[in-house]
Amino acid sequence: MVDGDKPVVTITGISGYIGAETCLQFLKDGGFKVRGTVRDKTNEAKLAPLREAFGDLFDQLELVEADLLQEDSLIAAVAGSTYMVHVASPFFMSDDPEQLITPAVNGTLAAMKACHAARVKRCVITSSIASVSAVAKADRPAGRIYDESHWTNPDRPEGCGNYVKSKVLAEKAAWDFVAGLPDGEKFEIATICPGFVMGPPLRKENFTSGGWVKKLMSGEMTEIANDTCPIVDVRDVGFAHLQAVKVPEAAGRRFILAHSTPCFMEYAMPIAIKYKKLGWPISTTEKPAPAEWYQSLFDTTPSRDILGVQYRDVFTMMTEMADKMVEQGVITKP
Ligand code: NAP
Repeated sequence: MVDGDKPVVTITGISGYIGAETCLQFLKDGGFKVRGTVRDKTNEAKLAPLREAFGDLFDQLELVEADLLQEDSLIAAVAGSTYMVHVASPFFMSDDPEQLITPAVNGTLAAMKACHAARVKRCVITSSIASVSAVAKADRPAGRIYDESHWTNPDRPEGCGNYVKSKVLAEKAAWDFVAGLPDGEKFEIATICPGFVMGPPLRKENFTSGGWVKKLMSGEMTEIANDTCPIVDVRDVGFAHLQAVKVPEAAGRRFILAHSTPCFMEYAMPIAIKYKKLGWPISTTEKPAPAEWYQSLFDTTPSRDILGVQYRDVFTMMTEMADKMVEQGVITKP
């Protein structure tokens, strides 16, 4: 197949941790003409790590500029595409809803409008476990087991942080947009809801998942939270995005991605075992358990059965992440 015959896939936010890995997997697959969006094509700090990580495949990538807050830029970026993978969204914690909710929701709506205008066949959207499990206490599922039918309640009486709200409102906006289209104009969507993403990064700038490992290895994390969080390797997240585009049965579905739901001490231990004896100041002191301890569990059957994800284990993802960040020089021994 020559390049001109391949369907175009536009991936947003390829400078990001998940966006870069997802882009690389589409390039390696070879079945697509890959277009990736960044905010600024002249920003070498963001582009140089991609060039290094993609190697010869970088030349096959079409780079375009798009900003979540500029609808027209997304519409132009997606023109001529058969598929879209919408990864870009701010991922950090902030008390300012304008920083998180506005770009997440408006950006997703702009992506939906762009897909509609370009008549794409399918759009895969990176949502989050944050869009699934922050339900009101009264609505917690029996057995603590969440599946794709569960939705975070942004108005729950217990409160909901801006990042969590940004993810659930953005995902809802996508489903509502497609539901509101006339039958002949609907396109397929699928959403990917990963747990906390770990595993080796291609990105070298700061990012939230990497920040956790950096704090642990620098000794800044003097105590490890006594809490649990679903975890998944970034390479499995990239693969899930690729499969969600390729597998016909993925259309119209949400997919929870998680290897398991370990406590944060289990996140830390593989790195501590290897690096403490090399003189890194890693604390393995756990904070006291909170008064009310609750562990959410997740049914990941559809991700395995439909997308074919075979999850990497926690030991592999955490040691390979630390190794990569040390090798990149983005974490250095204090
Ligand atoms: P990241 O490395 O910070 O990447 C975020 C990406 O979004 C970057 O490419 C960033 O571009 C782009 N972006 C942010 N604001 C933008 C704007 N106004 N216009 C255009 N692009 C913008 O974070 P990540 O971990 O890869 O997260 C990517 C997605 O995965 C997000 O949707 C996040 O909610 C979701 N997710 C992440 C995790 C996790 O644990 N990492 C878990 C579940 C879901 P710049 O590089 O220019 O800033």
